[in-house]
Amino acid sequence: MNLSRSSALPWRLCVKLNLMRPPGMVSPAPQEDERQFEAALRPLTLADFAGQPHVVEQLSIAIEAAKRRGEAMDHVLLCGPPGLGKTTLAGIIAHELGVAMDQTAGPVLQKKLDLTGILSNVRARQVFFIDEIHRLLPDIEEILYAALEDFRLDILIGTGPGARTHSISLPRFTAVGATTRQGLLSAPLRGRFGIVLRLDPYDEETLAKIVERSARLLGVEITGDAAHEIARRGRGTPRIANRLLRRVRDYAQVRANGHVDFAVARAALDLLKVDQYGLDEIDQKIMLTVAEKYGGGPVGLSTIAASIDEQADTIEEVYEPYLMQLGFLDRTPRGRVATERAFEYFKVPRKHRFAGMQDPLF
Ligand code: ADP
Repeated sequence: MNLSRSSALPWRLCVKLNLMRPPGMVSPAPQEDERQFEAALRPLTLADFAGQPHVVEQLSIAIEAAKRRGEAMDHVLLCGPPGLGKTTLAGIIAHELGVAMDQTAGPVLQKKLDLTGILSNVRARQVFFIDEIHRLLPDIEEILYAALEDFRLDILIGTGPGARTHSISLPRFTAVGATTRQGLLSAPLRGRFGIVLRLDPYDEETLAKIVERSARLLGVEITGDAAHEIARRGRGTPRIANRLLRRVRDYAQVRANGHVDFAVARAALDLLKVDQYGLDEIDQKIMLTVAEKYGGGPVGLSTIAASIDEQADTIEEVYEPYLMQLGFLDRTPRGRVATERAFEYFKVPRKHRFAGMQDPLF
């Protein structure tokens, strides 16, 4: 049974629950076998965290201030696409503060008891990391309001008319929330975070530095231009760049005595069918559907999804943002439209423009 198609669960939750393979080589979601590999590469200090200078500066001030006062730090909300370092930063905050970190995720907390159980064990000044915080269920979110604002845990004892609320005070702790969809976060929840930081995709230079650092940790010899070649195709995302490095390392071990130079990196990446912009086969299919089959659009998301046999929310969350960032795709109220640049890059002859099929749903 292919759960990825039949399930109504969002793809990231499906991946977490191991119900489906993440979509593609260049998906920013972690792959099943990747967690250990990632853990080994995670920087532990702000000094080792490359890029995002405004985030690093604000955090270093907040951490230093909290340490001097000997208090918990303000709650932090980290926003940005998957794979940019939100979990890594939560770990760094805990490490730099010299405290422990407990970790959970919005979709994992299904019952109030799941959250009250964690909160009642929280220790003074420790970090409590909540990934995908925008996916919290409303009644669980409410428990969090009092915990974050007043460091209080309200527990309902009993049921019916005899039920009463018992309040427990919690030690002051630091909550770190991470979200890929800041717009889905309710205003009251967002308002509980004193520090809100946005992570942006990395430039090639910074991503190349991350690749070089990862190569060092993995004991892989790599030249500067090879690191840049991997970075160029890493879609501005450390998780993807590290994953490409891992595959290139395999290729180098089998074909090039383990040494990664420019030619080896390029040959390995070409073999993986990841092009010079980091686009893979699914990106190509999406663009050819819009540009060629539907004459440049507009085409609805569900029509694209049905045409290429992918989930609509995978396309929307994983593929489209990067295609739009590169200027290949536009979202309009009537559907997705391919740009002139896309016609050129994907080599779709101009005569196809407006000459494709009409979206049957419009
Ligand atoms: P997110 O939580 O945003 O999905 P992660 O924190 O899990 O992303 O990061 C994914 C991988 O990328 C990790 O292995 C991490 O080590 C690496 N990484 C992310 N950001 C950086 C960075 N700024 N410097 C070095 N490595 C990074």
